[in-house]
Amino acid sequence: MHSNLLEFQLLSCRKFFEVSMFYDKGLKFECNRCSDCCRKSPGFVYLSRADLTNLCRWFRLSQQEFIEQYCRWVQYYDNTEVLCLKERSNYDCTLWNKDSGGCAAYGARPVQCSTYPFWSWMIRDQDTWNECGKDCPGINKGRLWSKNEIETQSNLYDKIEPIHKNEL
Ligand code: SF4
Ligand code: SF4
Repeated sequence: MHSNLLEFQLLSCRKFFEVSMFYDKGLKFECNRCSDCCRKSPGFVYLSRADLTNLCRWFRLSQQEFIEQYCRWVQYYDNTEVLCLKERSNYDCTLWNKDSGGCAAYGARPVQCSTYPFWSWMIRDQDTWNECGKDCPGINKGRLWSKNEIETQSNLYDKIEPIHKNEL
């Protein structure tokens, strides 16, 4: 079969099977750096191996030093223990820092943070997305993200594999 014809047929198939989503025409989001997602309420920022490497490099710390200073082990959905950033007693993320104007590791922040708010469960339908907008003033404001950009972020989020205690 001629390769151009094959490519055309593959493209048609992809288009045919492309799932229509409420964000087909994109979604608006622009972070105003209010830090609401980093502070004042309990949460878990899980760290993958790549996150840990990036953060150690950013702070120029060894893995052991970074874990001792900034991490805790928490119970995961599968009842194992996984690596997570610490929280302060007021529930601020340990990396949130007033002097830095927000995240002290913004350029190396974990994928869980950099993909927010395009987490797969947050973009499952319009109501959920709008509901999440109550916690993030950047949702439905500012820059328009294309469907492709949104799904790139949510795929990255889905692929996060936190480090299990027995893996270190
Ligand atoms: S809550 Fe939203 S607008 Fe505020 S810092 Fe987080 S992502 Fe940005
Ligand atoms: S790592 Fe940075 S971006 Fe993520 S929650 Fe902590 S302060 Fe916020």
